[in-house]
Amino acid sequence: MRNKILDILKNQQREEFVSGESISQALSITRAAVWKQIQGLKEAGYEIEGQTKKGYRLVKIPCAIDLWALQQELRTQALGRQLFLFEELPSTNDRIKDMARQGGEHGTVVIAKRQTIGHGRMQRVWESPDGGLWLSLLLKPRLSLGDAAKLTLSAGVALAQTLQDLYRLEVRIKWPNDIVIQGRKIAGILGEVAGEWNTVQTLILGIGVNANFSGQTLSPKIPAITLQDILGHEVNLNHLTAELLFNLEKEVQSLEQGDVQGLIQRWTSFAVGINRPVRIEKAGISYGGIFKGIRENGELVLDQEGQEITFSSGEVSLRAEEQYSPE
Ligand code: ADP
Repeated sequence: MRNKILDILKNQQREEFVSGESISQALSITRAAVWKQIQGLKEAGYEIEGQTKKGYRLVKIPCAIDLWALQQELRTQALGRQLFLFEELPSTNDRIKDMARQGGEHGTVVIAKRQTIGHGRMQRVWESPDGGLWLSLLLKPRLSLGDAAKLTLSAGVALAQTLQDLYRLEVRIKWPNDIVIQGRKIAGILGEVAGEWNTVQTLILGIGVNANFSGQTLSPKIPAITLQDILGHEVNLNHLTAELLFNLEKEVQSLEQGDVQGLIQRWTSFAVGINRPVRIEKAGISYGGIFKGIRENGELVLDQEGQEITFSSGEVSLRAEEQYSPE
């Protein structure tokens, strides 16, 4: 009912006001029921103007994630066509893994308004308060096992590109897949394998974006920043999600068409510390060298006085030796 009212208001948007009477007739509900639905929509963040004689007018859709609003914005073929929104989940990745086990479709998306035990790599905590975009995606791409693992790189590129295009920000990817702005983490990506690799490749991608909340909400020791901190206002999470899924779908398709080189190139163009001195911390040992880039399998290549050594993304973290400032 709620969505039907929104459909009517949207279709009539150019003619401005829609009378409560015509909504009640179209949907065979009472005027009082229409009024109640409108109140509910206002509470959900829809700005709806009401005038006694004229009726209702949809002025603005909410910045917060909302299924109807997101569906209006979606321009993907598969990603997000199956969409589940929760007020709160322990972890969106865990929920979508359950869906994967039960045969969930390629492109299924789970979003939670907050996570209580969101996680990063190696079960580290990912703090996920209200106002962020906490999204997980189920992918069954037409890719070999090795290539499917590259989808975490694709997600990094899609996310960096989306934030850059929508908000005109200088976005960087810190290997393996932290998204940073002004040297601070604005978003993270967690790729996980789910289910049987020998039947259909099923990959879970978790994407968390610090959006409409203050970075001060997070534990002080975390070097994080939020879109709200940078832009000084809230962003429309429905638009952000739709654009992210659109860009990610393009990346998935390009990988399916075999364009690994294009992916590596795009990834490298966003990477922090390329051709600069960096330190890699691995199992308590620190390796210094020049960051030469990544191999096709995502491994980092470090040049130590002419000798190349590679690191996989497991127990490793990268530190730039100097504050990175783009040319
Ligand atoms: P890294 O590879 O940088 O250690 P992970 O992908 O493992 O990062 O993510 C977990 C880490 O991210 C946590 O240990 C914490 O320091 C940091 N973190 C947790 N929540 C957030 C958040 N909302 N924004 C930015 N960083 C966060």
